Amino acid sequence: MAELIQQQIQQLVKTLNDYNYQYYVLDNPSVPDAEYDRLMRELKQLESQYPDWVQADSPSNKVGGQALKAFTQVEHKLPMLSLENAFSAEDMLAFNQRLLDRLTTVSQVAFCCEPKLDGLAVSLMYENGLLVQAATRGDGKIGEDITENVKTIRSIPLSLRGELNVDFPQVLEVRGEVFMPKQGFASLNQNQKASGQKQFANPRNAAAGSLRQLDSKITASRPLAFYAYSIGYVEDVNGLMSQSHYGRMEQLKAFGLPMNPEVRKVQGGEACDDYYETIAAKRDNLSYEIDGIVFKVDDIAQQQQLGFVAKAPRWAIARKFPAQEEITILNDVEFQV
Ligand code: NAD
Repeated sequence: MAELIQQQIQQLVKTLNDYNYQYYVLDNPSVPDAEYDRLMRELKQLESQYPDWVQADSPSNKVGGQALKAFTQVEHKLPMLSLENAFSAEDMLAFNQRLLDRLTTVSQVAFCCEPKLDGLAVSLMYENGLLVQAATRGDGKIGEDITENVKTIRSIPLSLRGELNVDFPQVLEVRGEVFMPKQGFASLNQNQKASGQKQFANPRNAAAGSLRQLDSKITASRPLAFYAYSIGYVEDVNGLMSQSHYGRMEQLKAFGLPMNPEVRKVQGGEACDDYYETIAAKRDNLSYEIDGIVFKVDDIAQQQQLGFVAKAPRWAIARKFPAQEEITILNDVEFQV
């Protein structure tokens, strides 16, 4: 019995590590996300029951995939982490309770609610208001330098609006998602098909594949968009950045960065459930793909108090939408979309 469980863990680790490689490194997933999530849940469950058999290379403790050697590597000043997932209202209740248990002085938590864009995370480093470096998340510690490619995305400002040290700080790392709107994705795949080239499984892979090009001209020809959703490393001697996450989002917007108009600040867990339902109802009408909602504790001091676990912050969670029914077969692989 014990041996069987150990073998099961080893098999899950191997399978999920293979899936990660195909998804993050090759931008070419071999299974639908729902299947990946199911196996990952199975692995986490076994690991929590049998902590002695957690493998050193377990994907449950790792962020993303490795940076491609073809790009210059960038060491992130602050790690770019993943998010814990919730799959139900019960998971959300448990999350809210965990927060209240740790934040003993409050009876209700304020959250910033944001659609979970299905693209890839990038870091944009602004020094004295100028964009000096853009990088992928990579494995969370080391990403790929994609500065020239990012500069081809028209909505990303090359310089911030406002005055240095009055409006924005000396060094500001903006984090956000590069994604491909649905319409652009459909026409890209049409063109790929017409020219006999490989089609992309979903907008996320199309965005990742487009951004991780060695030739910026190819990136420039792809319909990529960007929404900012947080800040990373900051040098802010004048204390300009807000102590509310939502407040920071408003500041980034004022600096000229694209912000998702659906982002809202709400009070308490019930309001998070309402927000989830509202966005789920209009999901199909949004011009871009989302795969859930991200809820973040709004107060930065509370975020700091809550801290991090191995690969994700304790102060945020991504509630995923249930997998949709429709199945697509592309390049001989079946996908749920
Ligand atoms: P994640 O998708 O669970 O969450 C973290 C990411 O969410 C961030 O890095 C960022 O890119 C994104 N994000 C979007 N909107 C955001 C917002 N408003 N605020 C903060 N972050 C936001 O974590 P992950 O590690 O990137 O990916 C794991 C998921 O990827 C899995 O749950 C699975 O669905 C999918 N996956 C699929 C395969 C496959 O083979 N099909 C393989 C690996 C991963």
